[in-house]
Formats: sequence, C-alpha cells, structure tokens
Amino acid sequence: MSYRAPVAEMCFLLGEVLGAGRLAETDRFADATPETIEAVLGEAARIAEDVLAPLRRAGDLEPARLENGVVRTTPGFAEAYRAIADGGWVGIAAAPEHGGMGLPVTLLTCVGEMFSAANMAIALCPLLTQGQIEALEHHAPPELRALYLPKLASGTWTGTMNLTEPQAGSDVGAIRARAEPRPDGTHAVSGQKIFISWGDHDVAENIVHLVLARLPDAPAGTRGISLFLVPKFIPDAEGRPGERNGVRALSLEHKTGLHGSPTCVMEFDAARGWLIGAPHQGLAAMFTMMNNARLAVGVEGLSQADAALQAALAFARERRQGRTPDGTEAIIGHADVRRMLMTMAALTATARAICLDCALSIDMAAATGEEAWAARAAFLTPIAKAFGTDTGCEVASLAMQVFGGMGYIEETGVAQFWRDVRVTAIYEGTNGIQAMDLVGRKLADGGAVGQKLIEAIEEGVRENPGELGASLAAAARRLAETTGWMAAAEPNDRFAGAAPYLRAFALTLGGHYLLKAAATEAEAGPRTALATFHVRQLLPQVAALCDAASAGAAPLYATDFA
Ligand SMILES: Cc1cc2nc3c(=O)[nH]c(=O)nc-3n(C[C@H](O)[C@H](O)[C@H](O)COP(=O)(O)OP(=O)(O)OC[C@H]3O[C@@H](n4cnc5c(N)ncnc54)[C@H](O)[C@@H]3O)c2cc1C
Repeated sequence: MSYRAPVAEMCFLLGEVLGAGRLAETDRFADATPETIEAVLGEAARIAEDVLAPLRRAGDLEPARLENGVVRTTPGFAEAYRAIADGGWVGIAAAPEHGGMGLPVTLLTCVGEMFSAANMAIALCPLLTQGQIEALEHHAPPELRALYLPKLASGTWTGTMNLTEPQAGSDVGAIRARAEPRPDGTHAVSGQKIFISWGDHDVAENIVHLVLARLPDAPAGTRGISLFLVPKFIPDAEGRPGERNGVRALSLEHKTGLHGSPTCVMEFDAARGWLIGAPHQGLAAMFTMMNNARLAVGVEGLSQADAALQAALAFARERRQGRTPDGTEAIIGHADVRRMLMTMAALTATARAICLDCALSIDMAAATGEEAWAARAAFLTPIAKAFGTDTGCEVASLAMQVFGGMGYIEETGVAQFWRDVRVTAIYEGTNGIQAMDLVGRKLADGGAVGQKLIEAIEEGVRENPGELGASLAAAARRLAETTGWMAAAEPNDRFAGAAPYLRAFALTLGGHYLLKAAATEAEAGPRTALATFHVRQLLPQVAALCDAASAGAAPLYATDFA
C-alpha cells in the first residue's frame, strides 16, 4: 500500500487559506519563505515515502520484543530512525544555539504528518524527543541544556515522557514515584511507570527520561509533583554515555495496534535524576512537553486519516461490484461509497487545517510575543488533539468499510490504520479530558477567545457570501450562543456537553477553511465540491451538537444503569 505525501495540498493550505506567508515577515522566521517551506516538505516527503512507509507492515507483523532485559525493535527500524536523525528532522524546530534548525512548528507539523502517515510507530520516537526538547529549552538549567539539547536535537539520544502509573492515568496527582535528594545535589528516583512509549530500544545510543516524582516534603496532589531528568546512561561532561543508571524496562505491553512502538513498563530503582524546574512545580514543566505532544498526537490522528483515505480511494477505483448509476465500472460510482469517501475527505481536510492553524498560532505567538496568538493556540490545542484523533478513528473505520470484507482481513493493511490510530484518542490526555480542558480552562475568560475565533469565521463569510456562506454563518451564530451558555454554566453542566461542543466547534471551523479554499477556484472544481459537501452534509450536525452540548448534566445522572 503506497503512501503519497500531500506536499502540494499542504503548501496550498498554508499559503492560500491560513496566511502562513506572515511567518516570513517576522524576524524569527524570516527564512520560512514559501520556497523554503516547499523545498523542506519535498525532502521530508521523500523520507516518508521511500524510507518509512515500506516498514509500516513490518512494524505490525514483527513487533519490538524484550530479550534479556534489552528491547529489540523491528528489523529495519534502527536504520530508518538514523535516516530521520541524520536528515536533521528531529531538531527541525529546536533552537539553533543547541544544534536545531529553528524552523517554525508549522513546518514541523507538516513533517510530522508525513512521517506518521508513513509509519506512525517509528515517528512516535522523534515526536516524543521533540516535546522533550521544548520542555528542556524552557525549564532546564543552562548546564543541562548545554549537555543534553545538542544530543537530542541531533537525534543521537531520544527522549521519553514518564507520567503514567497503575493508579495514576488521567489523575496525574495520584502518582507515587519518589525522589530522594542526594548529597551531590542530584536525586535518587524510584518507582514504577507503565505504558512508556519508546521507554527502551536499540535505535539510539542513549535514552533521556523525563519523570514525574514526589520529593519527601511534597504536598499531596498535583501541587506536590516535581520533574526529573533521568538518563539511561549517565553522560560525562563531554556528553559521552557512561555508567548505566538505575532504570530498566521490566516488560512490554501487548497492544491492539502500534506494535512497532515499544510500550514499556519502566522500573526506576534509585536512578540518578536531575531536577528540572522548581521543586513541586514539575507539572507546569511537563505541560510544556504535553502541550507540544497534544498537537503532535492530533497530527498522528490526521496522518492515519489521510493514509487510510488514500488507500480507500485506490481500492474504490479498482474494485468492481454491481452496476453503478453513473456507469463507472468500479465501486467509486456507488452513491454510498462516494458518501464515505467525501466524508473522509472533508473530515481529513478539516483536521489538517485545524492542526496547522494551531501550529501557526504557536509560531506567531513565539515570533511576536503577542498574548492573543498564544491564547488562540491554547484554545485550538485541545480541538486539534481530540478532533484530529477522532477523525483518524472515524476515517480509518470508514476506510475499512470501503474495503468491505477485504478491509477486515489483515493482508490489505487497512485494518492496521484502524488498530494503530485507536490509541491516539486515548493517550496524551484522553479526548474526554481534552474536551473538558476546552470548556473548562479555555473558556475561563468568559469565552472571549472562542468568540473571537467565531467572529473570524463570520468575517470570512462576509468576504465570501452566498448560499453556502449563509449556512456557515447560521452555524457560527449557533456556536456563539452555545459558547455563551457554556461560559456561564456550572462546571458539571459544561463537562456533560464538552465532547459535542468540541465537535461542533471543529465542524464549524472546517466550514470556514473549506469555503476559503473553495473561493480560490475561478470555476467550481474539487475544492468547491468538498466545501459544498461539508456545508450540506456535515455542518447541519452543528445545531444538533449544540443542543446536546447545552443539555446539562442532569440527564446523564438520571439512571444508575440498573
Ligand atoms: C500505547 C500507549 C502509549 C502510551 N504512552 C505513554 C507515555 O509515553 N508516557 C506516559 O506517561 N503515558 C503513556 N500512556 C498512558 C496514557 O497517557 C494513559 O493511558 C491515558 O492518560 C489515560 O489514562 P488511563 O489509561 O489510566 O485511563 P483512566 O484515567 O483510567 O481513564 C478511563 C476513562 O475515564 C475517563 N476519565 C478519567 N478521569 C476523568 C475525569 N476527571 N473526568 C472525566 N472523565 C475521566 C477517561 O477519559 C477514560 O475514558 C500510553 C498509553 C498507551 C495505551
């Protein structure tokens, strides 16, 4: 099953719909001209298509395994990882003073989509390292930054994120891992972490774990959590990996999908760790990594949607069954198959635009220091994560449906999209937690940032009026009312409607982006067709979703399921 990276579509979206040209007008990202972006994406596409995609099935069929305490990855993964590292792709958005390229997160997001679409299991490794780089850039003391960041940015070492324990999943405040101060200023970190992605492997010479643990005097709950850097091999001053630290993989999880990514139970036994950020403030530091990873995981979902859509389209053009109304010989001529393909295309295009809009807002915040951009990015992040990954799950499921029985049979590889993508709605904060973040923290300003986004949608309609625009304006008005309701409601009433609210917001944003894209066509073409489908067939859901969003919590508690 071949994958074709959508470079031209990404460049169109960035330039014509999202206005990414403004990046190059800032001092910080002056190099990010359309020509540079296209050249970088073209090179990333080559790695995705030629190096990563051919190993996707191997990762599924020959998962990582634990042998004598050492994790051995799928044959070929080490070489593929080297291609990513040697190409400079791990440090693409890292600061140049530490060996990174300093390019915008927008570009990293496009590259991440291509790498994940080609091979999500391998791509998860640099994804985690990239999040760790950002956390260390913001929170590590200078000597640790100098020692670790060049190794991470070059991909010589990889990074992991260690939050989860058996009793502490969504409830991070319940973690029990401990850290005892040592006389030399470091700490002895002990405890067990579960579900740690790329917790151990053989693709790089060292692994740097960021671990949440409690100091002896820690207050209970989230206010008593500190963050520690724990390397697998303790480096000397020149960065040569030396003494083996007290951390090891105890076992590997047996998973539904994503088999090529080793998911480890990790044991920390008085491992030497360095405090990152202030004592008891670890969650704030870890949130830098988690926010970065939330967008990146939304992009993982999007990536599987696009790859599954490509596969389904190719199959639908070949498979012959029955007589089609338009005389086409293949099943792509059947109305219901077209319904599935159009739904897949509209959701995927919406997810990509939301993720890239979020990334662009992150970059503009970094380049201008303007709070409005940062607030916009923060608002879009849970939408990008939850809608991107819900879309991945929905589109992968539809792809299997387009394949019929052949989709359920493993040989076609389409079931792998469905199995691999499922976890994206669960990890990095479940989608339920994302929706609660949206209606909780992100509406804490009374809904001002959300209303501003809705105003931008209405402004877009004024620029491109018409029948489709009128439908979009009606959806936007409904969303604005519901946003007002949400901002004033009791917390549990908000939480009860959080998931439908998030989806309503995403579908309305989708109408905005797709109509903008359609407006670039002199005559109605494929972009107009997609926008028309979205507005006529998906946007009507917004009113129903808004009804559900503002129904309150009482109906949910009216039964004990007896
Ligand atoms: C393949 C894989 C890789 C992973 N990689 C990592 C990793 O690298 N590092 C790491 O630290 N962790 C990792 N995780 C763990 C992952 O982040 C957690 O599984 C996730 O945060 C959910 O926690 P949980 O599994 O304990 O579910 P729970 O927290 O038990 O949640 C169960 C259900 O209850 C809901 N729920 C829980 N609390 C609330 C609430 N307050 N309000 C409303 N609903 C709630 C959830 O949304 C969910 O639907 C990974 C998991 C998997 C499966």
